[in-house]
Amino acid sequence: MAALCGWGLLAPLGGRLLAGQRAPLWSRSAAAAAEPLYDVVVSGGGMVGSAMAAVLGHDVHFHDKKIALLEAGPRKEYNHVPDTYSNRVSSISPGSATLLSSFGAWDHVCSLRLKPFQRMQVWDACSEAMIVFEKDDLDDMGYIVENDVIMSALTKQLDAVADRVEVFYGSRAVGYTWPLPSHSCGTSPWVQIELADGRRLQTKLLIGADGHNSVVRKEAEIKNIEHQYDQSAVVATLHLSEATNNNVAWQRFLPTGPIALLPLSDTASSLVWSTSHEHASELLTMDEESFVDSINSAFWSNVNHSDFIDTAGAMFRSALSFLRPSGSAVRQLPPSVAKVDPGSRAMFPLGMGHATEYVQHRVALIGDAAHRVHPLAGQGVNLGFGDIACLARHLSAAAFNGNDLGSLKHLLKFETERQRHNVSLIAAIDVLKRLYSTKLAPLVLLRTWGLQATNALPPVKEQIMAIASK
Ligand SMILES: Cc1cc2nc3c(=O)[nH]c(=O)nc-3n(C[C@H](O)[C@H](O)[C@H](O)COP(=O)(O)OP(=O)(O)OC[C@H]3O[C@@H](n4cnc5c(N)ncnc54)[C@H](O)[C@@H]3O)c2cc1C
Repeated sequence: MAALCGWGLLAPLGGRLLAGQRAPLWSRSAAAAAEPLYDVVVSGGGMVGSAMAAVLGHDVHFHDKKIALLEAGPRKEYNHVPDTYSNRVSSISPGSATLLSSFGAWDHVCSLRLKPFQRMQVWDACSEAMIVFEKDDLDDMGYIVENDVIMSALTKQLDAVADRVEVFYGSRAVGYTWPLPSHSCGTSPWVQIELADGRRLQTKLLIGADGHNSVVRKEAEIKNIEHQYDQSAVVATLHLSEATNNNVAWQRFLPTGPIALLPLSDTASSLVWSTSHEHASELLTMDEESFVDSINSAFWSNVNHSDFIDTAGAMFRSALSFLRPSGSAVRQLPPSVAKVDPGSRAMFPLGMGHATEYVQHRVALIGDAAHRVHPLAGQGVNLGFGDIACLARHLSAAAFNGNDLGSLKHLLKFETERQRHNVSLIAAIDVLKRLYSTKLAPLVLLRTWGLQATNALPPVKEQIMAIASK
């Protein structure tokens, strides 16, 4: 933990402040008494906030609790799946699928649209180094699902618990007022929430799921370690030159950033291409043919190879195959792209962030409000779903035991468990992003040997897969 404090991703021990110690208090508990009081308010109804509210709504220990979900945007639900794929997709881990199954949302996802994949091939554009992850037992490694499909499934499951969970769409929270930990005379003991339209609510526990620019985090004055990457991600829906099983997720690390092709169907895949902001803007405006050519050449061209690295890599690979003859996997060739769906190209600036605290008295942060990562490992929303599984377990126990839901006692257990898991993963993703953003020969050689060695060591690969599948 000391090292992680040094990295800056965690608050130094003993440094925790209580939100109520800093934020101004309303001395108007009489007026507050008239405002509707909820046991839990989730602020932010994206994939993570909606799933959090649905999990609590389906929990038997919450049967007598009042929950509210605040979402600034409109309700999102499909009556039927559109013919075209959305350009926003997520790689969903088996662990996240289990969480979504636990309250019935995964059945809706399956009845709408998803594409399982059984293999992942990742390789370096500056050398022959590659790593392949695959399941021996024919299990799925993960699922590519449109974000809109996940939202639609969550909306259905929120409707199923409408008697316990009130959802306020088009409702932006603009201000929060925090209670003191020991309720003193003349002050409200609850978190007060002010909406943009002037309505007010109060809650025993506020869960901030309002994304990487979280208002909850800012108003609670929780420190966020963050920086913007020098990259934007270009997304698009692509059509392949010919139909294949298309059950592989492909990612190639170019010196300008990783390009990934994620399967949607036998003939369609989704693109996530992280590259410099300038190049991303060019990719967005270039004509369709040049765009498709750029993608195919990003996957196929060896223009970044050098004889020195290729020779050193080949020597290391043959040494490894001598030591571990069965330790590597066969390289496959990615499919070639024929067309892009008109209007599907879009770009998103990328950044990383980590809240040094996930909880304070009566407040918890989950999802991108607590941590933001580069999409290269497809972990962002999976980390958020992991937060939900952990927080819901502690809140369920608190409700069962009749404890105060907003008490730091169990909120701190959630924080410790999740930071233990999240911080090392977030740091590893950041290191990978930096290590692969260079053409410097010593670093290329280092990562080439590292990738080749990892690929040749099944136990190490299994460890990586176990972490990524949570
Ligand atoms: C190009 C790209 C590819 C990605 N691919 C993957 C992937 O393959 N796998 C993966 O796991 N992750 C992936 N991610 C990351 C993933 O998209 C995010 O981690 C995830 O969307 C975060 O969800 P969230 O609900 O925490 O936050 P958000 O999606 O940001 O949702 C926050 C919600 O809160 C609402 N809100 C904000 N402020 C307020 C307010 N004041 N009051 C009320 N409501 C408010 C917003 O309207 C929004 O609906 C990717 C990200 C990008 C950019």
